[in-house]
Amino acid sequence: MSIKEPIVGGHLSIRGGYAGAAQAAVASGAGAFQYFPKNPRSLTVKDFDRQDAERCRKLCEQHGILSVAHTPYPSNLAVDRNAPREQFERTVDSLRNDLEIAEACGSLGIIVHFGTYKAGNPLQGYQNIIQCINEVLSGWQGQAKLIIENQAGDHGDMGITLEELVQIRKLCHLPDSIGFCLDTCHAFASGMWGGRDDRAFDGRASELGYWDGLTVIHLNDSKYPANSRKDRHARVGEGYIGEAGFRKLLKLDAVQGIPCIFESEKGEDGTYREDMERVRRWVKA
Ligand SMILES: [Zn+2]
Repeated sequence: MSIKEPIVGGHLSIRGGYAGAAQAAVASGAGAFQYFPKNPRSLTVKDFDRQDAERCRKLCEQHGILSVAHTPYPSNLAVDRNAPREQFERTVDSLRNDLEIAEACGSLGIIVHFGTYKAGNPLQGYQNIIQCINEVLSGWQGQAKLIIENQAGDHGDMGITLEELVQIRKLCHLPDSIGFCLDTCHAFASGMWGGRDDRAFDGRASELGYWDGLTVIHLNDSKYPANSRKDRHARVGEGYIGEAGFRKLLKLDAVQGIPCIFESEKGEDGTYREDMERVRRWVKA
């Protein structure tokens, strides 16, 4: 496969609505962007503005921009179904709400962290994740996917291997409505990906079928060395992964055409323009 122009952009605010975020993406020359569908600190269901979402969808369509929603931080897929029951329902309702917003905005889907479970046997945690995803996607007919993101390992051992991600997707009722978000900082911090010329990672991801589900990349550098288990994002090329690591990754067949989102500090001009230019330059040369 030939190397394509990378589709890049950053996480944008919805202060001006979903359409406002899309407008900002257009203005900065981005090919993609991410947004919080609602307050990122709460699981409260949002009665969202459908006209605003529709304007966002149309703008993105007109300008060929891809968008993706990031679920609120308290969204934990491993939430226990029984105790307390209310928390499970709140999580499911919130995720379904996020999915509906993403669908209305014409987005690829909703990114949700793999989940954490500390109450006991990790197998119960995995079981919970599968139950939660099945419940969220039950009867779902939309195009928007539930996109699982790998974790840095700073909150326990779950969601830090390709095997876990692939297995969870396989074991759910609707694997076609499930995608993956590869966060490069988390992958580097957890030891899932070594950075640099990591052919073993590429090979294992192909064999396991991880690449088949790849929908989005969080293109973050890391402020800490590999295996540090620290979730501290740096701007691309300014951390321990470095330019060489990203150059190799961006040239893999499996990532061609996959949108890359920055979740790091913006440049002095308050945008991701510099980061986008960097990545485009690396891929070209
Ligand atoms: Zn991320």
